[in-house]
Amino acid sequence: MFKKGNMLYSIFKNKCPRCHEGDFYIDGNPYHFKKLFDMHKTCSKCDLRYEMEPSFFHGAMYVSYGLTVATFVTIFVICYLLGISLVPSAIAILVAIVLLMPVTFKLSRIIYMNFFYSYDEKYKNSTKND
Ligand SMILES: [Zn+2]
Repeated sequence: MFKKGNMLYSIFKNKCPRCHEGDFYIDGNPYHFKKLFDMHKTCSKCDLRYEMEPSFFHGAMYVSYGLTVATFVTIFVICYLLGISLVPSAIAILVAIVLLMPVTFKLSRIIYMNFFYSYDEKYKNSTKND
């Protein structure tokens, strides 16, 4: 769907934001809860250090907040258009936000990382030993 070189490729394919080759998370499935927080320290292909400084990913909380608000608004508008009253709408929003929490968590980190790095063809087929 997204081609290499597009930021969305890195985000949805769980790839390094710089080379789009190495994996970002150890397990790309957000519903494998034991490995939810596990991510590679560096890119296996271009050696990009993912956590640039201590607490770097605290900034991803703002991205997570944005994604959660977008989910909230989307579901509220859908419920409103379907004529669903306020309490069932609130329950639907709550359930959706809780169910999507692992997805939001994983997406927010990789989106945040993509703010700082963009695709660089120089690293396209690089290996650590280059
Ligand atoms: Zn890389």
